[in-house]
Amino acid sequence: MKYDVIIIGGGLGGLTAGAVLAKKGKKVLLIEQHFMVGGAATVFKRKDINIEVGLHEMDFGEYGYDVKRDLFDFLELDKKIELISLPETWDIKDNNETFRVPEGVEEAKKYLISKFPHEEKGIKKYFAILKSTAYTMGKIPYDMNFFQFLSYPFVKLPRLIKYFFNQKSTGEMLDCMIKDDKLKRILNTNLVYFHDNPYEFSWHYHALAQYNYYNGAKYIKGGSYSLSLALAEIIQENGGTVETMCTMEKVIVENGKAKGVIYKDKRKKEEITVNSEYVIANCSPNVLYDNMVDEKYKDKSLDKFKESVSLYTVYIIFKENLKDIYKNHAYSTFINNDNELSAPFNLMQEGLKHKNIEDRGFVFVDYGAIDAGLNIKEDDKRSIGVFCGASYLDEWESLPKEEYLAKKQKLAEDLFKKAEKYFPNLKDYVEYFEVSTPKTIKRYMKTPSGTAYGYVNNNYLRKGRVPRFSKTIKNLMFTGAYAFPGGGFTGALISGYFAANNVIEPQWKHIIRRTVLSAAVLTLLFTSPMWLKGLFNLF
Ligand SMILES: Cc1cc2nc3c(=O)[nH]c(=O)nc-3n(C[C@H](O)[C@H](O)[C@H](O)COP(=O)(O)OP(=O)(O)OC[C@H]3O[C@@H](n4cnc5c(N)ncnc54)[C@H](O)[C@@H]3O)c2cc1C
Repeated sequence: MKYDVIIIGGGLGGLTAGAVLAKKGKKVLLIEQHFMVGGAATVFKRKDINIEVGLHEMDFGEYGYDVKRDLFDFLELDKKIELISLPETWDIKDNNETFRVPEGVEEAKKYLISKFPHEEKGIKKYFAILKSTAYTMGKIPYDMNFFQFLSYPFVKLPRLIKYFFNQKSTGEMLDCMIKDDKLKRILNTNLVYFHDNPYEFSWHYHALAQYNYYNGAKYIKGGSYSLSLALAEIIQENGGTVETMCTMEKVIVENGKAKGVIYKDKRKKEEITVNSEYVIANCSPNVLYDNMVDEKYKDKSLDKFKESVSLYTVYIIFKENLKDIYKNHAYSTFINNDNELSAPFNLMQEGLKHKNIEDRGFVFVDYGAIDAGLNIKEDDKRSIGVFCGASYLDEWESLPKEEYLAKKQKLAEDLFKKAEKYFPNLKDYVEYFEVSTPKTIKRYMKTPSGTAYGYVNNNYLRKGRVPRFSKTIKNLMFTGAYAFPGGGFTGALISGYFAANNVIEPQWKHIIRRTVLSAAVLTLLFTSPMWLKGLFNLF
């Protein structure tokens, strides 16, 4: 059997690449080692209710400010999934004080100015830069119409070049614009969705994501698995194949070129060899180079990349919907340790690792606050919530089983206690909970350090990511959180879109072809008075 493209891993990056390629007429085979596709974008069932594995909020901006809009349109995803707008961006709690950041950039800006009037100038500047960054990055060449492509060198390219030579961290940029430490911490409240240190985290990644969080945070009805399933269906509806419970073992390389793969079908206990023109890896690049190809193909330039922070999650089933108990609470509530918001912002450059896991602050997401569609039975009044915060594999990996279980239990108890300060007697409403750790993520997603974010995102614009095309093996490409632009739903989806488009036509060729075409059209247009006159004289 020969395929055009074989994809290793059915996370969002692999599924998106597969769906786009299948829709563009390529014969696709996607291999996933788990029994469900989705990677971190999935749900699991407990006590007859679906529990969301990962998604709290997906940033989803306007046309021109978010590449995902073009991707979703191309795949006609609106026919398969429903995006639910969140009622507010988030609540931030510290020492009995609550900041409710509303949904919408203008509303959020106004709210923050009302709370920090002495920082009006800085807040306006901050949001203006967020907007221009999202606009600059909001389209890829493949999706630009004729006029957008023509104006690109004048409107967006200079800014992109400036970004490239002006790589700053989020912390540095905030220090330039804003003085108030509390405000800086508020603007960084969801840092752990990407990184553990604002003084290392790429400003451009922060700006792009935050603009679209403020302007369009969404949840996917039925859970993030609805999106993964929709992408898998698109592959199958367009003649492709999706195989689960199959582990990729080897990439076949001949004369330096990827020619196919060998994978193990765990159900049939068989090794299967298939050939293809391209292989796209959605798994960790380090795992691929260490285990799936000969040592001589190892890309040593990846050794300098560190893996990003990981997460723990306490998954909770509540006996009833919390909406009926706590009036007017938010969907997402970031709970800080007392007085943490007032601490100097530059202390955050120490990162989070030195702090006790319980002292790191966390987010409480109450899926019951929206119509999340996670209940399987219609008359089921229970709801789902999660506590989620930063963690690291080495905090869990070497613990003996009893200690591991005890540490998980203690973490959950501590978090319930902290949450009860703002949600009194919360524990009384709990029917069931379980805790996942970086060790769990490592087991399910096969990332070496149990991260869901790929390499640490210190540099935007490719420098900190695995190259899209392998440096050592032709026709081998990468997608997902380790690839450009980075981790999170947005990063993984866009990386898959990029990878697929590059299989059809590499970006540099696309740009040259369109530049030549545009130059020809412009030349024809500008010389039209001459040749129209000549043409007219002919008759
Ligand atoms: C608890 C949690 C909360 C999160 N919250 C958010 C959020 O609110 N918003 C947001 O934007 N992002 C969030 N994220 C991050 C986001 O989910 C991930 O960054 C993104 O889904 C990663 O996608 P990926 O394409 O890199 O694939 P992954 O999800 O890493 O999937 C890779 C897939 O490859 C498969 N695989 C690996 N090796 C092999 C092999 N040898 N053979 C076959 N298959 C293989 C794995 O089984 C897996 O399915 C969260 C993540 C977690 C864990």
